[in-house]
Amino acid sequence: MPELPEVETIVRDLRDKIAGQTITSVDLIRPSIWRSGPPRKKSLINTVINAVIRKGKNILIPLSNNFTLIFHLKMTGRLTVESKDAPIPKHTHLIFNFGDRQLRFNDVRRFGYADLAPSDKLAEIEYLKKIGPDPFELSRAMFIDLIRSKNRMIKPLLMDQSIIAGIGNIYSDEALFLAGIHPRRISSRIKIDKLEKLYNSTLRVLQNSIKSRGTSVSDYVDASGQKGTFQNSLRVYGREGEPCKKCRRKIKRETIGSRSAHFCPGRQRLN
Ligand SMILES: [Zn+2]
Repeated sequence: MPELPEVETIVRDLRDKIAGQTITSVDLIRPSIWRSGPPRKKSLINTVINAVIRKGKNILIPLSNNFTLIFHLKMTGRLTVESKDAPIPKHTHLIFNFGDRQLRFNDVRRFGYADLAPSDKLAEIEYLKKIGPDPFELSRAMFIDLIRSKNRMIKPLLMDQSIIAGIGNIYSDEALFLAGIHPRRISSRIKIDKLEKLYNSTLRVLQNSIKSRGTSVSDYVDASGQKGTFQNSLRVYGREGEPCKKCRRKIKRETIGSRSAHFCPGRQRLN
């Protein structure tokens, strides 16, 4: 699933490619992809893309008619800008035309969605309202307070979108490895100096991945359809059984809740 760096990469790409452009027509190929039902084409055509914004893993696109388009890519969603002459792949559910270019929403597994809502009512939308702060908005003290105020295993806590937005399976594994914290440690009992490390490693791993245009381990591509390269820099995620890059012990994978955690048993101790 795309996490903060992948969604941020797409958002920046879309800003370059479609901000300021006018939607000339729309193809609502699969109406069920709209979370609140498909909008009337009239409410989209001839509107201008005012901005492209990320909120957690959501992509918000405010339009000039005071409505905002919202996308969530979930597992396999893609938002790409292509020439209208480029072949349209299977599972393309929605097309916005901008003259001779198109913004396409493609999703093989269809867990992703599109939505349209009045821009002044975004604060009332339940699934946006419950998104926690972005890690880049948190000071070190705020981050540490947030983590220590909960009594939960650190890995699922980091991935809880209502606590901190944008971190999923990949970056929680990577940040915990860099900070030397076992994924099952209980958040309230982790020492402050470890949490300071975790704050730094979380921001660093997210920033480095944005610089590498995200991690492509399965379906993720940017808005030009290109893969990211951060998969080459992963230290634990997806490396079960391979030697740790720091201590050579074998990386372990364990299931925590419904997700798998990758960690180094040498550097990340439970006690
Ligand atoms: Zn190690």
